[in-house]
Amino acid sequence: MSHSADDLVRRSLAHVWHPCTQMKDHEWLPLVPVERGEGAWLIGPDGKRYLDAVSSWWTNLFGHRHPHIVARMKEQLDTLDHAMLAGFTHPPVVELSERLAAITPGDLSRCMYTDNGSSAVEVALKMSHHYWALNGQPERTRFVALSGGYHGETLGALAVSSTGLYRDAYRPLLLEPLVVRAPDCGVMEPGGRAPGVSWEDHARRVFREMEATLERHHKEIAAVIVEPLIQCAGGMRMWPPIYLKLLREACDRYGVHLIADEIAVGFCRTGKLFACEWADIVPDFLCLSKGLTGGTLPLAVCMTSERIYEAFYDDYSTGKAFLHSHSYTGNPLTCTAALATLDILEQQDWPAHVRGLGQHLYGAVSELSRHPHVAEIRQQGFVLAIDLAADGPGRKPYPAGERRGLRVYQHGLEHGALLRPLGNTVYFMPPYVVTEEEIDWLAGVAIEGIERATAD
Ligand code: PMP
Repeated sequence: MSHSADDLVRRSLAHVWHPCTQMKDHEWLPLVPVERGEGAWLIGPDGKRYLDAVSSWWTNLFGHRHPHIVARMKEQLDTLDHAMLAGFTHPPVVELSERLAAITPGDLSRCMYTDNGSSAVEVALKMSHHYWALNGQPERTRFVALSGGYHGETLGALAVSSTGLYRDAYRPLLLEPLVVRAPDCGVMEPGGRAPGVSWEDHARRVFREMEATLERHHKEIAAVIVEPLIQCAGGMRMWPPIYLKLLREACDRYGVHLIADEIAVGFCRTGKLFACEWADIVPDFLCLSKGLTGGTLPLAVCMTSERIYEAFYDDYSTGKAFLHSHSYTGNPLTCTAALATLDILEQQDWPAHVRGLGQHLYGAVSELSRHPHVAEIRQQGFVLAIDLAADGPGRKPYPAGERRGLRVYQHGLEHGALLRPLGNTVYFMPPYVVTEEEIDWLAGVAIEGIERATAD
């Protein structure tokens, strides 16, 4: 069915409460109607095309409507749409669990499915605390989180997130985590990395705060939760693998769980299949979502080891079971989309491809490093971020209210690029099927947009 663009927008604004949006903005900021997806592009009913440079909130890996994913989903719809997973099982969930256990780091062999990333984080938090309670340490009720981290919107996940913007209104409802300074290597942060100090030295120095917190509080801590290597929603803040390595060692020393939230960074974004591989560590809980279905359907998983699983495994009468469920847990169609995604992932050396695209992207925007209103360009794999600053060398951030990033967004839309900056941070996280020509074009649009957004 074809819709008129204006009609779609009018009806959407009449009834849809759009996520993460001050709806009043749409009195002057046009809502963008989309009707089709084709590879890295989204296409409106009016034929307008937008290069999806943020992979539709970091979900899409291989382009929209990838033929293999679409074909497998269609086939699955002819056999089984949905069946509850308590007391029942089905081929897609079995095969997916086996394959995830095979490709994830170490001994993560147990999969608990949810239908969004936040809920997978809830599972990890609940399971960790419950594990300790079952092991005679019910006083382990606290979680350690990094400043600037983001783990989702449900109350537990939001509690361990420290992005004030999303959290402040709900503060009275939330658990209080122990917040430790992130090893963010950006130079814009107060107390951040001093120019000339290496990422590794900075991370080692900042790690002392984590060590001190663990030493002081470990008896009441269930787990530490981190976004390995890139704190995405917090502004694409990046940190090096050494911190993850030190953290794994310290968690072992103090007998605390480590939760790796790879919801955004998993599936090659950082240039390896999973970000934990950079540090060669295995978390106690690994949360995955977004790219898990190649960006087609909502599915998430919290993976853990036999050791954790066995703590819950006992006679019914002991009451030890992990009684967590969602109606659509392990939905066959979403699991099939994930299986098709894993098929594609196995077809070529995507980590190498992604690293190559990342290098190309860096080259395409590198002229911005001399821009008076660019404080920093940083990159990990195929994620590249550019911080805008009121005065580059002095690194004074623009006041958030000036919404400079939004100007880049608007410029992008005018020219057919979906760039959706986080505050003053313009970033790229495109699907892995973009071509070098598309990257060059995208970089050109972003450079012009930054020029325009910082002109006054
Ligand atoms: N963790 C991270 C690292 C994320 O980036 C996100 C989503 N942006 C979430 C958790 C929450 O996932 P969802 O939006 O699917 O609930």
